Amino acid sequence: MKRNLGQNFLAAEEILEEAAQAVSLKGKTVLEIGAGHGELTVFLAKDAKNVVALELDSKLIAPLRENLSLNEIKNVKIVCGDALEFDFSNYEIIYGNLPYYITTPLLFKIIKSGCKQAVLLVQAEVGERIVAESGSHEYSRLSVMVQSQADASIIDFVPKECFNPIPKVDSVLLKLVMKKNFVLGEKLVNALFQHKNQSVKNALVHSTAFLGLDKQKAREFADSLGFGGEKVFCLSLKQLETVCKKFNGFSEKT
Ligand code: SAH
Repeated sequence: MKRNLGQNFLAAEEILEEAAQAVSLKGKTVLEIGAGHGELTVFLAKDAKNVVALELDSKLIAPLRENLSLNEIKNVKIVCGDALEFDFSNYEIIYGNLPYYITTPLLFKIIKSGCKQAVLLVQAEVGERIVAESGSHEYSRLSVMVQSQADASIIDFVPKECFNPIPKVDSVLLKLVMKKNFVLGEKLVNALFQHKNQSVKNALVHSTAFLGLDKQKAREFADSLGFGGEKVFCLSLKQLETVCKKFNGFSEKT
């Protein structure tokens, strides 16, 4: 099956404008993931010092270049390449109407990149999971991994009719402002959220093979937390940080 590379181009100027204005771009170099024909690039280039426009599909490079030249834009460097391979580490600001088929790996890459802010279009359901609060149905591994690294907010709802071709689902404009914070252990968070409706203690006991612990040690560890009886999906970020910190110390001892 040939992938369509998540090519749903944003046609709504007011959303493009709103996205470009969500962060102060003055004097900054911006990385844009999946530039397409330059729908968003044009708006970013007006305010930023430079834009690096990354696009995987070589067939889009000529129309992208043409669109920029029609708008007399000269501060954009076009790179034909794969965002999953590209080095994100030198950019303070990252933008993208993210290709839906790789949203999660790209989000993880962005939050680990060392950038300061990101403005992203993502499927509405994904955006809602990212900003979900503990205790809610949408609260998930994605919520805690992103929220431990960034203040995440939804700037606007973007109905599917704003895109061409029209995709199956609506999107949201998401803003991430990175914070210097404790990095949650991905493996432990994965283990817990695989059993998110269970107590922390049971989730740990059921993940012993995955975590390389024996069941008795998992019980001891859960008891040492003081909140081992709480349901995983009700844990606050602070509590998850405690679990990860204690787990690092605990697994070093065993
Ligand atoms: N920025 C444009 C296009 C968004 S559609 C707009 O807002 O309208 C997503 C774009 O990402 C498409 O142009 C698609 O070709 C590109 N793309 C898909 N996979 C990619 C990848 N792995 N690396 C870089 N770009 C990719």
